Amino acid sequence: MGEFRHKHSLGQNFLKDKNVLMQIIDSVDVKENDLILEVGPGQGALTKYLKLFKANLRCFEIDTRVKKYLNSFLDDKTDVIYKDFMQVNLQEEIEDIIYQDLYVIANLPYYITTPIIEKVLSSNLDVQAMVLMVQNEVADRLSAKPGTKDYGAISVLLGYTYQIEKLFFVSRSSFEPVPNVDSAVIKLTKRELIKEADNKELFEKLVRDAFMMKRKNLRNNLNKYDLEVIEPILTSYGLTLQDRAEKVTLACFIDIANALS
Ligand code: SAM
Repeated sequence: MGEFRHKHSLGQNFLKDKNVLMQIIDSVDVKENDLILEVGPGQGALTKYLKLFKANLRCFEIDTRVKKYLNSFLDDKTDVIYKDFMQVNLQEEIEDIIYQDLYVIANLPYYITTPIIEKVLSSNLDVQAMVLMVQNEVADRLSAKPGTKDYGAISVLLGYTYQIEKLFFVSRSSFEPVPNVDSAVIKLTKRELIKEADNKELFEKLVRDAFMMKRKNLRNNLNKYDLEVIEPILTSYGLTLQDRAEKVTLACFIDIANALS
């Protein structure tokens, strides 16, 4: 890797642990006619392993200095788009590729973990599964269950579309340079909706508002909504307006949103 100067500001901690790379590949079943999107290939540590699937592979990298490392991976099914992932129109960037299922697999730049996930979610692309290296605490938050301290708006919103699992812990020593946090790999697998939200925007706003002030109860956080509509639904789930959002399940949030819409 020689004289390459890693940019901390771009989250450039490159994976060097082959076992971790193999575990990532083993966690997902990608076929040759599928498409994988990789965010931030860096010098290609993960890209090299993703190529084992022989699927279509499109990578997005903001730092053109890594071109010389990535050029050797290019072929008729693999390319790299040198753009800021947050700025691209995802639908347009992949419209030239014919594929069966879509996967997002990445060792994410941690300074934009949530924005990247939210971008994929809001792109309306039909993503089969995402396998993502994230900061360990973020993995706990994203995969948190109701009633736990880590459960928050993002756990609920992701849970609407995906089944979320924390696959395994990854020590900071698996990266070069060594970051000051540990990591974990999470897998989000598309699942059947448990219930459909009639108005997706209202559902999302309700969830975000419910968790707005973590220490406040539902009566306070949702005081702009019709509490007379909300209360009987909470009751049917064994909850009250005095409870905090961390106790409210996905199904209950959907029922409330549908009653309000
Ligand atoms: N995939 C490589 C690996 O596993 O060794 C690199 C992972 S490193 C944690 C994150 C990568 O994301 C870096 O290569 C960084 O330059 C890139 N990156 C940072 N911000 C980005 C952005 N906005 N769009 C695309 N890539 C970005």
